[in-house]
Amino acid sequence: MTETTARPTTSTAGELSFADRHIGPRGDATETMLRQLGYATLDDLVDTAVPADIRQAKPLDLPAARSEAEVLDDLRAIAAKNIVKTQMIGQGFYNTITPPVILRNVLEDPAWYTAYTPYQPEISQGRLEALLNFQTMVSDLTGLPIANASLLDEASAVAEAVLLMRRANKARAEAKTVLDADLFPQTIAVVKGRAEALGFELEIADLSQGLPDGEISGIVLQQPGNSGRVVDQTAVIAAAKERGAMVTVAADILALTLIVPPGEQGADIAVGNTQRLGVPLFFGGPHAAYMSVRDGLVRSLPGRLVGVSKDDTGLPAYRLALQTREQHIRREKATSNICTAQALLAITASMYGVYHGPEGLKAIAQRAHLRAGALASVLGDAGFALANESFFDTLTLQVPGRANELVTAAEEHGINLRRLDADTVGISTDETTTTAHLVAIAEAFGVADAAGAVEAAEAAVTEALPSDVVRSSEYMTHPIFHTVRSETQMLRYLRRLSDRDLALDRTMIPLGSCTMKLNATAEMESISWPEFASIHPYAPSHQTQGWRELIEDLEARLSAITGYAGVSIQPNAGSQGEYAGLLAIRQYHLANGDAERTVCLIPASAHGTNAASAVLAGLKVVVVKTAANGTIDSADLDAKIEANHDSLAGIMITYPSTHGVYDADVREVCDKVHAAGGQVYIDGANLNALVGLGQPGQFGGDVSHLNLHKTFCIPHGGGGPGVGPVAVAEHLVPFLPGAPAGEATERTGTAVAATTYGSAGVLPISWAYVAMMGAEGLTNATKNALLTANYVASRLNEYFPVLYTGNQGLVAHECILDLRDATAKTGITAEDVAKRLIDYGFHAPTLAFPVAGTLMVEPTESEDLAEIDRFIDAMIAIRAEMEQVLAGEFTAEESPLRLAPHSAAAVVSSDWDRAYTREQGAFPVPGLRQDKYFAPVGRIDGAGGDRNLICSCPPPEAFEN
Ligand SMILES: *Cc1c(COP(=O)(O)O)cnc(C)c1O
Repeated sequence: MTETTARPTTSTAGELSFADRHIGPRGDATETMLRQLGYATLDDLVDTAVPADIRQAKPLDLPAARSEAEVLDDLRAIAAKNIVKTQMIGQGFYNTITPPVILRNVLEDPAWYTAYTPYQPEISQGRLEALLNFQTMVSDLTGLPIANASLLDEASAVAEAVLLMRRANKARAEAKTVLDADLFPQTIAVVKGRAEALGFELEIADLSQGLPDGEISGIVLQQPGNSGRVVDQTAVIAAAKERGAMVTVAADILALTLIVPPGEQGADIAVGNTQRLGVPLFFGGPHAAYMSVRDGLVRSLPGRLVGVSKDDTGLPAYRLALQTREQHIRREKATSNICTAQALLAITASMYGVYHGPEGLKAIAQRAHLRAGALASVLGDAGFALANESFFDTLTLQVPGRANELVTAAEEHGINLRRLDADTVGISTDETTTTAHLVAIAEAFGVADAAGAVEAAEAAVTEALPSDVVRSSEYMTHPIFHTVRSETQMLRYLRRLSDRDLALDRTMIPLGSCTMKLNATAEMESISWPEFASIHPYAPSHQTQGWRELIEDLEARLSAITGYAGVSIQPNAGSQGEYAGLLAIRQYHLANGDAERTVCLIPASAHGTNAASAVLAGLKVVVVKTAANGTIDSADLDAKIEANHDSLAGIMITYPSTHGVYDADVREVCDKVHAAGGQVYIDGANLNALVGLGQPGQFGGDVSHLNLHKTFCIPHGGGGPGVGPVAVAEHLVPFLPGAPAGEATERTGTAVAATTYGSAGVLPISWAYVAMMGAEGLTNATKNALLTANYVASRLNEYFPVLYTGNQGLVAHECILDLRDATAKTGITAEDVAKRLIDYGFHAPTLAFPVAGTLMVEPTESEDLAEIDRFIDAMIAIRAEMEQVLAGEFTAEESPLRLAPHSAAAVVSSDWDRAYTREQGAFPVPGLRQDKYFAPVGRIDGAGGDRNLICSCPPPEAFEN
């Protein structure tokens, strides 16, 4: 771990430490909460709630807490070990300019980055509009009618496309999938991993030579190719379809402004990365991948899809369509395991489209293309051979035996190029490439009078795309891509949208299982420093020492926290951590010759991603029943172990369980599975209830994933980014994910992301959190998460009974409020309560997971007593409104609960004819008179929108009354 100089860091009297500010409850407030619960001290409460059996013996072994200023200094020192060069490596990652108005007012604006996934559409209209813009832009650029709201990265998006083709092409269900050899190597590596796990045949072939023999499920092409080559793919696409195969094209989104899009060439699916639309390189991620599909495939589309529906007044309104929470409902039959995606990055890319418009994007693409053309002519004249005459922005040079020398010479001139092999060099231009860069490359390549040659070439260069690939169709014709040009307009558009939404900058977001805690500004600050943000994922390792130090150190600290031997931060969401962890289990069994161990036990209460990930890892899901008290049904567990004794791969449990309770017998469950030869996967997404108190790696787990976007303060970004590190015991360390693109590593597991370090760009957030909190701060955070959850449970129990509790009636870090009885009596549903909370200015708790008819509340340690009381008061007031229904003052249908949320338009309407007053509608508690959030729309009709699916921007006239 990084040694930090020992300076006194703890607060002197009166001065608050970072941990003091991260944690909400303090002093008298803590006393009040403990009194409510009947405990004298916080430790008494914790010792009662957490089973002694799982408690860790020693405090966390972490460096002492450092102040915000010190940690920022430490980060500057680490960042200084990264060397920023002009990145012309390409291979799917290109320099770009994030317009400052977007950098500061989206990526660095808590109104955007602290929002949650828009499951509650009425408080998410702003980010839903931004994501709909993204979908519209992607759909237009790719020439396919339906695009989703982002995937995790290009390589995994191709993998998702391959699986989609395998699902959709039922007539070729057993046939092989063919990847063109001119795909990025990281893409091929990730798809290979999926094919191995699922056991389907994959062939890599040079499709420019025609299709291979045999039955084919689908083919994947890339445009431009890994070699930079741009070709008309119509013929091979038509041939594939003729043979009954489906077609995916991985396409460069910027290139599509100039070249014929995949949809027009006949492809079924287009995928790719939108990083180069204004999103920093971030050492490989997070970036939003995209996927668009032809008609007929929308119901198989993985990831989130924003659609247009109507609110209760008939106004167009946005919400997630079709697969909303689909893993939770379809589980092992889900189309994919993706839950958290890359919303914030998709929003950034969409705003880049809004800001530049189609003409601007085209001009940027043309500039990059012309620079590549000028460079091609300079280097061609100097005797260098080009591998392809037809390119967009990437030149591949054949330089027999000279690749190392030329790449080194370019580096000395400040520019990173791509070394493909000893004889081949790649150069990619982009939005930021200047004449000076071309001159520097020409000099590095020994061109005589480099400046003169570049000047002459730039004066003479013309667009050099073959006529059969030149795009003639229009794109981004919707007014939103034409009306925002001045910075004032841009600023106000961003503010207008974010004002429609509720994020953590306005209210607590008590979403159970999501851990919506503070995302501190000091944690966020460093991610946009160029020394972190402007590093290419495949930059040479001597330029990325700072990144490697930070990552190794974070992995070591996460090992220390979880009690595991090794951690990989490569998975870029919890779902991907699950997949990587289950693959490690699978590969371990295979290495031991236990190929028949393929059954994964999953409790009925598990998070939906668990079952979906198990299927992707090639495992067979067997469900274990939940007992009446919410724990694993031990008799059923025994029976399932017995029935699958020789085929048991392992069990996947969540701890504390998704019911928010510490099962006292978790060790016993682990022992039973181990005794039968199985491995234990502990879903660590609920680590906020464990850090400093118990270690999954010590109480029975062989592998866990963590969600850094929950416990470790990476903001949710409106539905991503995330990081889902996978942590393993010693015997599984060799099976941690390896490098997708050939980097040397001792980890031999399957790569699950496009780059070795996944969403590296946001890791400084978690690193800063751990560094500023230290062992004691982290442990106190956990204790306070227990305190706030138990306080809420205790105060609300008489209004809405708490469904599951553990020792002495205590919960862990969240509690499930059971509304079913109240619903049966009043007709008011948990959903009505969720919508009515909006009128009180709150984001609803988790609705209907893990139990239908309930709300799951997780206040986290970051909320203070006053905010928690405001929430409790709102819930009590809502309960009183339910009593009004019971008393016959209005029916459920007429009630302010069913008619919630109340938009300003509804409340001021001249024909108010409701059974309650306007005051009750808008200001049910007095505090709202000063600080009022009005939902911009009324209740949204979800089902209606699914019946009549619209997934791109509606015309402005649709909003006229
Ligand atoms: C959030 C969560 C996941 C999934 O994480 P993503 O990052 O959204 O993929 C898995 N398991 C549990 C228990 C969770 O709460």
